[in-house]
Amino acid sequence: MTQTLNIVGGGMAGSEAAWQAANMGIDVVIHEMRPKVETFAHKTGNLGEMVCSNSFRSDDSEQNAVGLLHWEMRAADGLIMQTADRHRLPAGGALAVDREPFAETVTARLKDHPNITISHQEVTSLPEDGHWIFATGPLTSTALGEAIRAETGAEALAFFDAIAPIVYFDSIDMTRAWMQSRYDKGETEEERTAYLNCPMDRDQYEAFIDALLAADKTEFHEGETAGYFDGCLPIEVMAERGRETLRHGPMKPVGLTNPHQPDVKAHAVVQLRRDNALGTLYNIVGFQTKMKYGAQTEVLRMIPGLEKASFARLGGIHRNTFLNSPTLLDEQMRLKSRPNIRFAGQITGVEGYVESAAMGLLAGRMAAGDILGQPIAPPPDTTAMGALITHITGGADAKTFQPMNVNFGLFPPVQGLKGGRRGRKDRYKAYTDRAKSDWRGWLAQTALDAA
Ligand SMILES: Cc1cc2nc3c(=O)[nH]c(=O)nc-3n(C[C@H](O)[C@H](O)[C@H](O)COP(=O)(O)OP(=O)(O)OC[C@H]3O[C@@H](n4cnc5c(N)ncnc54)[C@H](O)[C@@H]3O)c2cc1C
Repeated sequence: MTQTLNIVGGGMAGSEAAWQAANMGIDVVIHEMRPKVETFAHKTGNLGEMVCSNSFRSDDSEQNAVGLLHWEMRAADGLIMQTADRHRLPAGGALAVDREPFAETVTARLKDHPNITISHQEVTSLPEDGHWIFATGPLTSTALGEAIRAETGAEALAFFDAIAPIVYFDSIDMTRAWMQSRYDKGETEEERTAYLNCPMDRDQYEAFIDALLAADKTEFHEGETAGYFDGCLPIEVMAERGRETLRHGPMKPVGLTNPHQPDVKAHAVVQLRRDNALGTLYNIVGFQTKMKYGAQTEVLRMIPGLEKASFARLGGIHRNTFLNSPTLLDEQMRLKSRPNIRFAGQITGVEGYVESAAMGLLAGRMAAGDILGQPIAPPPDTTAMGALITHITGGADAKTFQPMNVNFGLFPPVQGLKGGRRGRKDRYKAYTDRAKSDWRGWLAQTALDAA
């Protein structure tokens, strides 16, 4: 069996994975289909091309989870972060990048690496042997998508996401909301109280529908066909079909009694469901939307109980090929049914340039560890890297799995700190201090293993 590491896809994740493995002494072949086969979003044949915005988001490693991810990747000599820093543009606290020189530099550094070969070929099947990382992203080619689907089953590979907004539990006003499953269904108390309910009276409902209809919406990108219409309509489209549609759909008020006002029948109820094992995140059930982010926060904060909601992520619907990773991948991002194959990047159900590169960094190191005969354990979930990989490979609910950005709701709480908005600054600093220390520890440990 060959000891070469084959990486399919030279985007954010594949480029970073190749860099990490090559620096550990492994021979790497990157198989990138562009420019021979194109996607609707990429414009060049360069590796590491940014397909839309040129922002890596916040660079604050003390108070922001994505800034922390930047920090961890820099500490691990990440190619994507080194190159982003080299081509940084002024953008206040954010890390904006001059996209063309960025992708040219990523391409040149990979091309010049003595352990890396680049092959411009589309890969259309899942190989039986050898070491492979598939990092083919949200726009995985059709032929490969079909091959993956044949392996995983149709239920476990999605071609569109339908992201409902996710709220931090500690920002919800529980003097207005309550926990109850519809008709108290469930065997255990936990199941009977699995949903968080926010009631609306008639006036609140009518005002909410008006705001939904008036809100600014985003359009699909050119070429991004709207095949989402079966089964996951955006809430605003439901509202356009009739003012009562939502009251008969995700906002139906039946089977629920508000303990704060047991004699008042709600006109509509918005339900939220736990989104992670830690219970720190709740998604608004059935609320996938194409409202613009600013409009979303405004409209969603009209929901009683969510007036002060903090959002771990806002909703969206995009063309996005992604796996049901919690069921398909092991803790090392290997396909359980074929452990010679790893997945990395956005196809694993993380979202964003930075998160995708981060999962590439881990996959590259772990695959190299396997080839060297020194398996590398995933980082602890107290780090940003560890929190993300833990979420996608097990922490998330497989039944409702949708792509996730890094956020502090994925981290195990630091005990003894004040909850709510007031304590947020100290809490975030405690998360990031703990993460940095644990990430340094993991790097030292795995460098030692690989030496
Ligand atoms: C239209 C659109 C807009 C987006 N806007 C943003 C944004 O503004 N900010 C943000 O953070 N994220 C955005 N994203 C998400 C973004 O794509 C990811 O954050 C990031 O690029 C994912 O990295 P990746 O390495 O997983 O995939 P990619 O960067 O897409 O890399 C995958 C690579 O695999 C190649 N490939 C696919 N199939 C095959 C095959 N069969 N054989 C060989 N090569 C193959 C592709 O050509 C591509 O180069 C957007 C996505 C889309 C589709």
